[in-house]
Amino acid sequence: MVKRFPGQRAVRWVSHQALSAASALRSHPRRLAAGVGGALLLSSAGAYALVEAQPPLPPRSTIATALDNGVRSQSEALAAADMAFAYSTSVRRQDTVQQLLRRLGVTDPAAITQLGQEPRFRALVAAGAAPEPVRAQVNAQGELLQLAAVLPLPSGTNPYDTPTWRELLVRPGAGGALEISTRERRLETRTRLASVPVRGALTTALSQSGVPASVGAQLVKVFAPQMDLRRSLRKGDQVALVYDMQVLDGRELRPGRLLAAEIRSRGVVRQAVWFAARGDAQGGYYTPAGQGLEKTWAASPLPGAKITSPFGMRIHPVRGSREMHEGVDYAAPIGTPVPSVAEGRVKFAGTQTGYGQVIKIAHTGGFETVYAHLSSIAVKPGQTVSEGQRIGKTGNSGMSTGPHLHFEFHAAGRLVDPVRMASYVPQGKPLPLGEKAAFFAATAVMRTQLAQAAGGDDVVRLARVD
Ligand SMILES: [Zn+2]
Repeated sequence: MVKRFPGQRAVRWVSHQALSAASALRSHPRRLAAGVGGALLLSSAGAYALVEAQPPLPPRSTIATALDNGVRSQSEALAAADMAFAYSTSVRRQDTVQQLLRRLGVTDPAAITQLGQEPRFRALVAAGAAPEPVRAQVNAQGELLQLAAVLPLPSGTNPYDTPTWRELLVRPGAGGALEISTRERRLETRTRLASVPVRGALTTALSQSGVPASVGAQLVKVFAPQMDLRRSLRKGDQVALVYDMQVLDGRELRPGRLLAAEIRSRGVVRQAVWFAARGDAQGGYYTPAGQGLEKTWAASPLPGAKITSPFGMRIHPVRGSREMHEGVDYAAPIGTPVPSVAEGRVKFAGTQTGYGQVIKIAHTGGFETVYAHLSSIAVKPGQTVSEGQRIGKTGNSGMSTGPHLHFEFHAAGRLVDPVRMASYVPQGKPLPLGEKAAFFAATAVMRTQLAQAAGGDDVVRLARVD
């Protein structure tokens, strides 16, 4: 494979074996021509230019022929040709600067030292991964002619909403030192459609259809509140997908967001389209009718935890009198993280007789939740919390006979059995008021593309909509 960098001669992407051949030959210059010639002959037809007097022969005989015909002249020809070797390698976990540069064919000690001291290059290596392979060109002496690497995004940035990425460029500068710079690269987004017939495991079906793993993970997550796709899809089911692919200079840099999906499973069709309402940067997934798919309320603060005392009348474990148990007690060792069951605003966070350390959260729709007997509190009154956000840790504070979480659910000021919470709270995020028209306009294209993707019956199709 021959790649061309702007303004440069054609270079060859050689295998790592070629590097060892080249470095071995560096210490034995007499064998340089034969070895490099042999390595290039192995790697591509373009190498024939070097030994053009010879017909294409198996490497061993080519080396012999080259030796017979005078290594010296071949060697000189090579030096004059100013060969550039191009390498490409991924950043690996626990790589060192030196290891990465070695795989890129760079053996020049000055370059290794300088890049080892360069913060941006060190950060790239320390990240243990890069958005795409690092590319370098080196000469036969292992000196760096050019290096380019797309830098990972700072942690916390949403890759789907970051059209500009930074690329690190290294070139020989004046005075022998390398010149290191960065430039902004703008990503293009292309839409991909895929139709995936399920024959066995979903992940296998997706990868056989060329759907990137990260898109598959998004698909599973989108439908998670309705069904566990990894377990419930069967042979004969059908998945259709519309997703973004982020492209840099024509290279597919990374898969982007899942835009729309359809699951046909045993006669039931489920669809999801992504939409970002005004003021909602994250966006969310909705049915084509505009019903939110993401559950906004967890079923319980501690899913799977054993209920040690239910809601209702009981003999109070401390006072011994018959009274109302206003919530549910979940068994949990001290220090278990307690998440808020839904988005809301902290109404109270502190100590109250009986409750011990307690948090009360007010949610939209007139709902309130209470988390009591905590060992620690991580929120302050007035603070906004999201669904699943850790607000404190379980404990045994207040009037409590052992470590547990006492959880209450109030609907419109009335106490309700928390076990029945799901039948009171909204099941999915509804479209914000006044966003219906924007939703249908924005999702019309996706719905058409989804229909196109779903159109193929048994045929695996992967179309490009560029
Ligand atoms: Zn209780």
